Amino acid sequence: MATPPKRVPRIMHVTTKTWITKNIIRVTCTADWIKTLETGIEGAHFKLYVPKPDQTDATFTTELENGPRPDMRTYTIRHIRNHVGEIDIDFVDHGDGGPASAWARRCGPSDIAGFSGPGPIKLKDFYADTYIVAADMSALPVAAATLEAMPRDAKGVAFLEITAPEDKQDISAPEGVNVQWLIHPEPHVPVSQSIDRINQLPEFTGPVQTCIAGESGMIKALRNEIVNRRGVPKGDAYISGYWKIGLIEDEHQKVKQVEARASA
Ligand SMILES: Cc1cc2nc3c(=O)[nH]c(=O)nc-3n(C[C@H](O)[C@H](O)[C@H](O)COP(=O)(O)OP(=O)(O)OC[C@H]3O[C@@H](n4cnc5c(N)ncnc54)[C@H](O)[C@@H]3O)c2cc1C
Repeated sequence: MATPPKRVPRIMHVTTKTWITKNIIRVTCTADWIKTLETGIEGAHFKLYVPKPDQTDATFTTELENGPRPDMRTYTIRHIRNHVGEIDIDFVDHGDGGPASAWARRCGPSDIAGFSGPGPIKLKDFYADTYIVAADMSALPVAAATLEAMPRDAKGVAFLEITAPEDKQDISAPEGVNVQWLIHPEPHVPVSQSIDRINQLPEFTGPVQTCIAGESGMIKALRNEIVNRRGVPKGDAYISGYWKIGLIEDEHQKVKQVEARASA
């Protein structure tokens, strides 16, 4: 049977760009096809394709359709406004060393980017007695979207590691979830504060669900604690590496695939 043609990523245009906190750039993109996406998909990831500096829209569009594939990275839908066809994407500004961060820093109104997806929402059904949320800056969008979607009587903890006090942002979390902002000033040093705090939590009683994402070192330690030691079922534990110190995303994805095969 012939292989079906690959779906070409869809084009969206930048409308606004702003540093919402010291190290986070919010880029709002618009397109008519965004109106047709499901509602309530904040927290879902997608593949973002970005043009090279000075690349024309025509060349970028041709590359999206026919290759070579433009630079592609994974990001999260922070907000979606289906009625006007807009999404907000929150980028960690980690300088010009990666194509996605560099694009977010230089893009402006009417610039174009490509979109494939979205993937699934990370926590769709909420049934836990206790929620454990932990995120570094790259995973604040999924953590915030999850906290905002939780039932208002939810209980639990959220450890959010940010680069500077000025990176704290307003999140409408349930009152019963104790949100703690932890300052981790050097992103290229593995985080440890949320690991220490989660390790010190009392033994869980009743169902637990987690939304934990961030740098790969933190993820390994927390998967070990939550799934292996405390026995939270894998299906209730969203624990995902979003990037790895010293690796570009393609390299990190390969490492994740090898690790997933090894633990299957
Ligand atoms: C499901 C999923 C959802 C994600 N959602 C978001 C999101 O909404 N917002 C977001 O900012 N990131 C998000 N990420 C993480 C993002 O895909 C990676 O950080 C990606 O590597 C950024 O691409 P880049 O082109 O900027 O850097 P790359 O070219 O991939 O890497 C260049 C260098 O920068 C380093 N680096 C990469 N990310 C960071 C970082 N966050 N801080 C410091 N150094 C870094 C790398 O280790 C490497 O040395 C998500 C990842 C996944 C898997």
